[in-house]
Amino acid sequence: MIAPDVKTAIARLRELVEESDVIVPFTGAGISTECGIPDFRSPGGIWTKMRPIDFSDFLASQEARDESWRRRFAMEESFGGAAPGRGHKALASLYRAGKSPGVVTQNIDNLHQASGIAAEHVVELHGNTTYATCLDCGARYGIADLRAVFERDGAVPPCEHCLGHVKTATVSFGQSMPPVAMARAEEETLKADLFIVLGSSLVVYPAAGFPELAKHNGAKLAIVNREKTPLDRIANLVIHAGIGDVMGGAVGVN
Ligand SMILES: [Zn+2]
Repeated sequence: MIAPDVKTAIARLRELVEESDVIVPFTGAGISTECGIPDFRSPGGIWTKMRPIDFSDFLASQEARDESWRRRFAMEESFGGAAPGRGHKALASLYRAGKSPGVVTQNIDNLHQASGIAAEHVVELHGNTTYATCLDCGARYGIADLRAVFERDGAVPPCEHCLGHVKTATVSFGQSMPPVAMARAEEETLKADLFIVLGSSLVVYPAAGFPELAKHNGAKLAIVNREKTPLDRIANLVIHAGIGDVMGGAVGVN
């Protein structure tokens, strides 16, 4: 059903949450736009104005690597200080109550971890932009440390252990989806008796396959998103409203 108004929607979602044992939330950009983080991929988003740097270009060209880091450090200025919103807090509350084993996310902003969900219980399909790793040996680097060197030398240096390229721990355009995260997302999805999509337009596969899988596996499916999604027709509950208000209201978190 498509909820006729927000009050009915919250009441119905609260019932679904109360009658479920294993709630698996699946989050996209919409939960973080409420915290001031732009949705890069949406129409009008940054990637429609500025061509994303393809993974193969990052590997092939020092210029592309420099530009990629310049953009990353510019992001820090605009939303490096973003904090978890009411939607993130509502999910953290379900997690603490043992109702939810964690969260599957398309976001790279670390806000679920910041809201109190243990890092090992956040399955990140597109990686994480709040730290960097060596593409060859996996060594981890802090963004602030890399920035200091970049500002001094004009480039981020290669890995100090193996001289591999150091890149934000995100999945770039042209880079394959991380197999471990994909397998874990499927595992989590199959545990769910309630699968809640929050702020994802569900147009990108393979990510959009998870709510379909949950539904086919017998879970109830709720979708909270400002715009319609292609999976609205198979959902038990569809809410076209703000995530913080709806999720916060349903779980009782301010
Ligand atoms: Zn390395």
